[in-house]
Amino acid sequence: FEIETVDAVEDVDQDVDQDAGLAPVVAVVGRPNVGKSTLVNRIIGRREAVVEDVPGVTRDRVAYDATWSGRRFTVVDTGGWLPDSSGLAAAIAEQARLAVDLADVVMFVVDATVGATDVDEAVVEILRRSGKPVVLVANKVDGVGAESDAALLWSLGIGEPHPVSALHGRGSGDLLDAVLDALPEEPPAETFGEAGGPRRVALLGRPNVGKSSLLNKLAGETRAVVDSVAGTTRDPVDELIELGGKTWRFIDTAGIRRRHRENQGADFYATLRTRSALERAEVAVVLVDADQPLAEQDLRIISMVIESGRSLVIAYNKWDLLDEERRHYLEREIDRQLHNARWAPRANISAKTGRHMEKLVPAIETALEGWGTRVPTSKLNQFFADLVNSHPHPVRGGKQPRVLFATQAGVRPPRFVLFTSGFLEEGYRRFIERRLREEFGFDGTPLDITMKIRE
Ligand code: GDP
Ligand code: GDP
Repeated sequence: FEIETVDAVEDVDQDVDQDAGLAPVVAVVGRPNVGKSTLVNRIIGRREAVVEDVPGVTRDRVAYDATWSGRRFTVVDTGGWLPDSSGLAAAIAEQARLAVDLADVVMFVVDATVGATDVDEAVVEILRRSGKPVVLVANKVDGVGAESDAALLWSLGIGEPHPVSALHGRGSGDLLDAVLDALPEEPPAETFGEAGGPRRVALLGRPNVGKSSLLNKLAGETRAVVDSVAGTTRDPVDELIELGGKTWRFIDTAGIRRRHRENQGADFYATLRTRSALERAEVAVVLVDADQPLAEQDLRIISMVIESGRSLVIAYNKWDLLDEERRHYLEREIDRQLHNARWAPRANISAKTGRHMEKLVPAIETALEGWGTRVPTSKLNQFFADLVNSHPHPVRGGKQPRVLFATQAGVRPPRFVLFTSGFLEEGYRRFIERRLREEFGFDGTPLDITMKIRE
């Protein structure tokens, strides 16, 4: 629930925001001391709005939401990934590989007062091979006199050096314009749904829950790997797999199959990967290890899916390992810990034995259907009229807030706007959500409900 107050109901239409979904990722790469952190601070400090940490990043505060010219993106300072032990060149090469793996755009920062070093050139090689857009930053150009230093960086052969002074702010606006130009087009909402080609599925879960086993099972057993889809990197990132008579696009399977890189810097990297997979997915199948107690990380991944507004299926894997007792405890855990995702279709599977593989597709289809459900306004308002009559909001301070009317502002996920005559308290808002689900289904989808209070 989001809450907004408006002066008059008439003003309201233009206030209905489109949910912009998840933001593209801009990774900042470069040798130590070239000014990466300073630049990141500059980027996020120059707007007044959001500075939000990526959920789950506890060790280093390295990823931030940023906005420039109305476009949202996530800036990642990769400096925090550098292991101290191994050699500098190797470490930076690894950092650059991580960055190109997960970023939509790489900002490569060079200290213009030092010029291009061997290490810089090695990084350029990696960046160039990745095919990802790179914005070259010539930092520490504090005054006009230093601009010739910046120009020398043309020699790196990855395009125009953008002279900036991260410290003083000089040139940073032009730099951000260049970054925005390099960002992928915002995916129009219409690319969701059947019209966007095969429906897009992200297979998510913490390490060792069985993602790659499941992927192999699905791809192998059905003997229907149609094709691999080339991404912007040279590796195929998605796979088309035929299941239940339909072709599905499994997102970022390269990330699942190429797990060794995740071992380093693990948590943070996995979180970003989850984010970027979600950005492209329509439905997330979150795997949990049914034989283990639900972990913090499981819950976090599920919350990320809900926050991203994607539809959700929860697959309890390794069912073959469960005994009676564990089964009993699992049900209680789910009850206690997953109440915010009670609506998600569930499949109890074993990627190892193949148990209930056939239940996955119907669960995914249910979730996608709920996600795309649109309730006609007339039906919706009949529903609210009945609800307000049979279960009015409790009287508070002599007043009784009412839902005046409601409209569904969008789908994928379903978004509702309720116009109310006063503040609806938490318990009542939850009641509304529960009743909406009982009445209209919405299995497998988060609901986005905004309340607009008319005063
Ligand atoms: P990082 O290791 O790449 O994250 O680099 P830092 O952001 O920590 O910066 C390293 C040093 O360079 C710090 O002392 C900064 O104050 C300094 N620095 C960063 N940007 C600039 C700049 O634009 N001009 C000057 N003169 N110094 C800068
Ligand atoms: P990922 O890290 O999520 O990709 O997990 P993997 O697919 O690599 O699986 C981790 C471990 O769990 C491997 O040893 C698998 O053989 C095992 N595993 C995966 N699925 C199952 C299952 O359904 N039952 C059992 N018993 N083991 C499984």
